[in-house]
Amino acid sequence: MSIFGKKNNVITYTVNKAINREMYITIQNGEVVVNAPWYLSSSKIQEAVEQKKNWILSKMNEYAELNNPNIQSVKIFGKNYDVKVYYQNIITPELNLEENYQIKIILPIKYKKIGNEQILKISIEKMYEQIANNEIDNIMEKVRLILGLAPEDYAIEQLDSELAKCVGSKKIIINPKLMQFKKEVIEYVIAHEFCHIKYKTHCKSFIDLMEKNFENYSKIEKELSGYKF
Ligand SMILES: [Zn+2]
Repeated sequence: MSIFGKKNNVITYTVNKAINREMYITIQNGEVVVNAPWYLSSSKIQEAVEQKKNWILSKMNEYAELNNPNIQSVKIFGKNYDVKVYYQNIITPELNLEENYQIKIILPIKYKKIGNEQILKISIEKMYEQIANNEIDNIMEKVRLILGLAPEDYAIEQLDSELAKCVGSKKIIINPKLMQFKKEVIEYVIAHEFCHIKYKTHCKSFIDLMEKNFENYSKIEKELSGYKF
């Protein structure tokens, strides 16, 4: 086994030499490993690595993205929070909102294997769910008082593409991810679904009702562009 590294070139790799083996390159734990027949010269190996450079770099990026979570901050009620993950000798995951907009996620040590990104994603989904459970009654009551109407039922559920939706003419479903927005925006989205209790389509009466009750109507619509609700 030998190690080659070029200072200004990006690719550093380990060579495993073996008998009767074809040459192939793999990425193992974020390291480039070249498996080569024993007789292959280092310049030939270097050449092969150069040739495969694009593939190697894209694989290295993939690995880095999976193992270094790129969720460094999340939004709650429109404010940015930094997420920090710690591993401790505990049994169930804990999530704390700390001062100075810090979110501290503490995970059992055994979770280390699963990969940060996935765990972080699940933890953050759970966090939004918890916030929605705590806050949604007050928000919906406020909207009910503004509009003078409300659905008979609601549920907090993960939705694939919508922030919230109206089911039939009696029930609305709220995606916990809606909690990332400012309260004003959350109220607006909830109100939109409430209005669907009265009007199925975005008819003139629907728009009038929304415009009348939300003076920031167009600003909020702009903020929500790209989102479905
Ligand atoms: Zn609608």
